[in-house]
Amino acid sequence: MSVSPRTRRWGMAAFVLLVLALAYQKLGLGHWLTLDQLKASRDALVGYYQSDPWLTVTAFFGVYVLASALSLPGASILTLAGGAMFGLGVGLLLVSFASSVGALAAFWVSRTLLRDVVQQRFGKLLNTINAGLAKDGVLYLLTLRLVPVFPFWLVNLLLGLTQIGARRFYFVSQIGMLPGTAVFVNAGTQLAAIESTADILSPGLLGSLFLLGVFPMIAKFIVNAMQRRKVYARWTKPNHFDRNLVVIGAGAGGLVSAYIGAAVKAKVTLVEGHKMGGDCLNYGCVPSKALIRSAKAVKQLRKADAFGLRGAQGTVDFAAVMQRVHDVIRDIEPHDSIERYTELGVEVLQGHARITSPWTVEVALSDGRTQTLTTRNIVIAAGASPFVPPIPGLKEASFLTSDTVWNLTALPKRLVVLGGGPIGSELAQSFARLGSEVTQVEMAPRIMVREDPEVSELVAESLRADGVRILTGHQAVRVEVADGEKRLIVQHAGAELAVPFDELLCAVGRSPRVTGYGLEELGIALTPRKTIETNDYLQTLYPNIYAVGDVAGPFQFTHTAAHQAWYAAVNALFGRFKRFKADYSVIPWATFTDPEVARVGLSETEAREKGIPFEVTKYGIDDLDRAIADGTAHGFVKVLTVPGKDKIVGVTILGEHAGDLLAEYVLAMKHGLGLNKILGTIHTYPTLSEANKYAAGEWKRAHAPQRVLAWLERFHAWERA
Ligand SMILES: Cc1cc2nc3c(=O)[nH]c(=O)nc-3n(C[C@H](O)[C@H](O)[C@H](O)COP(=O)(O)OP(=O)(O)OC[C@H]3O[C@@H](n4cnc5c(N)ncnc54)[C@H](O)[C@@H]3O)c2cc1C
Repeated sequence: MSVSPRTRRWGMAAFVLLVLALAYQKLGLGHWLTLDQLKASRDALVGYYQSDPWLTVTAFFGVYVLASALSLPGASILTLAGGAMFGLGVGLLLVSFASSVGALAAFWVSRTLLRDVVQQRFGKLLNTINAGLAKDGVLYLLTLRLVPVFPFWLVNLLLGLTQIGARRFYFVSQIGMLPGTAVFVNAGTQLAAIESTADILSPGLLGSLFLLGVFPMIAKFIVNAMQRRKVYARWTKPNHFDRNLVVIGAGAGGLVSAYIGAAVKAKVTLVEGHKMGGDCLNYGCVPSKALIRSAKAVKQLRKADAFGLRGAQGTVDFAAVMQRVHDVIRDIEPHDSIERYTELGVEVLQGHARITSPWTVEVALSDGRTQTLTTRNIVIAAGASPFVPPIPGLKEASFLTSDTVWNLTALPKRLVVLGGGPIGSELAQSFARLGSEVTQVEMAPRIMVREDPEVSELVAESLRADGVRILTGHQAVRVEVADGEKRLIVQHAGAELAVPFDELLCAVGRSPRVTGYGLEELGIALTPRKTIETNDYLQTLYPNIYAVGDVAGPFQFTHTAAHQAWYAAVNALFGRFKRFKADYSVIPWATFTDPEVARVGLSETEAREKGIPFEVTKYGIDDLDRAIADGTAHGFVKVLTVPGKDKIVGVTILGEHAGDLLAEYVLAMKHGLGLNKILGTIHTYPTLSEANKYAAGEWKRAHAPQRVLAWLERFHAWERA
């Protein structure tokens, strides 16, 4: 029988602990490490030191390190002994190093034996602690060490479970423990006067050490307050504010921020420079999904034979398709309209906003006037715009982006889609289905590179089946126009290839809008990804200015913009009482290709990259009754769980309506429900949602208790006999 390294490690640890516990009891170590015993033995101990100083010093150091490393009780008695035997100077030197070395050993033991287990079980909680330690670890540890009411051994063991570095732990511990150690060693030099260890720490002394301990925190608070003052120092604060909140941008992030502000009766002004509803309504989610629907109808028509419909044909009237796209936008527009938001209590201004101080926003109104708003808080929700790579010849040849593609009235005969991400893939497939000859160019080795390779492969297969020519590993190097024909030159494996086109759609990412409205003048910092830098509360450099949505990242989805908006609005309006950290623990997303790809949590690739152990359970949708009946029997539900545990860490669904199917897993992950709970939930037959239950069933089967089943088999055999 093979034994796993972890079991072996635990076995060893249990054995050592058992031996130590027995030794502690049998040898009466507890009895030795008492104040009375120390007092009784003081003269003998001093005698040892006088007769053989080196041996005594070495033995004392060794015992101290061992006792600390094993987290044995009695550190304070040993410290007193240091003072009693060696005096203040030598005693302090010895105890200071011995306790720090011992603490480091205990820290190491805890890290080696327990950290993986604790990280797995309490990973989410520890992530928060680790993030705090990464930022303020020295201060935390210094405070814990300076205030001697936090048990020495407990601090060693707990810090071992976090991600603080061993070197940092050692040095901060040694410095932090020094005052307390000095007090105890000094007390040890006057052993006779002490009746109990409690006498050493008089309330006055304890109070002083406490003050010393919290001093770093207070100092940090003061430094932060000073920094805040410094940030604001060059601006004149208005005497009063006309508004509680000014929101810049009426996309998903801005609309939700304004909605929440108005709902709690704050005075809110929402400024939009272009179209209410932002990118999602006008250029993004809504038109793309409307186009995808038309393209799907074409596909269904082409498959009509398979459903017993003979001779069903249709021709694509592209202008009508685009008209439908605009009709859909028009039908949804009222949800985001000025009228609706005005009714909700939001003042909506149409114009370009510019932040002129941390409390003032100047609006160049669309009617030519300028209005200056004073406000306690600002939420920036300025969104993102299509990124256009600096490809020579591209601008001259003209190109489409997600902003302009909706203006097409004629179907491009030959379309190049630059980019293999979600937007590129959705649009490449749609245009191919509508009848364009589509070539999709992607620099990476596969499309949909954020998903697992098998997902990329299945989506690519589906796109190819719709007629998309996919060129992965191809880099666009220039655009040429020769004899009236436009050609994209791509490079692959050192060779160049020309791809002629009538239209080129650039879908290679979206750049946050960070210029032209005051960020530069205010000195608001950007991240390396060129999003506005915010803290966990979505505050920028100026704590009363917040940023949400595409302009803030780290995600570029409508639902994440709306999610952040809640935090920004609530923190802005009520942050002086309670602030909330934006929670990104369970973020779902979907790509609306056919089949759809939906994901929440980790993919296999990400889990591997992060070194997170996982088990995979997969259910093939080709087996699902409803999918078979619908003629959509393809795809899978893939669930990643913690090995041996009913804890979901990631789900990828590929298939018809994957985006909708995912919701059940998003709920489960958000509320800590496992696959047993999904399996125990009744799912309507025959629906696609049963795929989720069957995936849970696969997991259950793989974790069936084989021994119990073997016994049950015997039981039933016995019943039959
Ligand atoms: C083709 C496409 C398909 C997409 N599909 C999906 C999808 O299926 N699901 C999904 O979740 N997401 C999708 N997205 C992404 C989604 O559209 C964005 O994540 C979302 O719109 C971000 O919202 P936002 O509020 O951050 O910014 P935006 O919606 O971009 O809104 C920002 C607004 O701010 C205004 N503004 C900027 N600066 C100023 C200023 N100085 N003064 C006044 N107004 C200003 C702009 O005019 C704009 O209206 C898609 C995007 C595209 C392009």
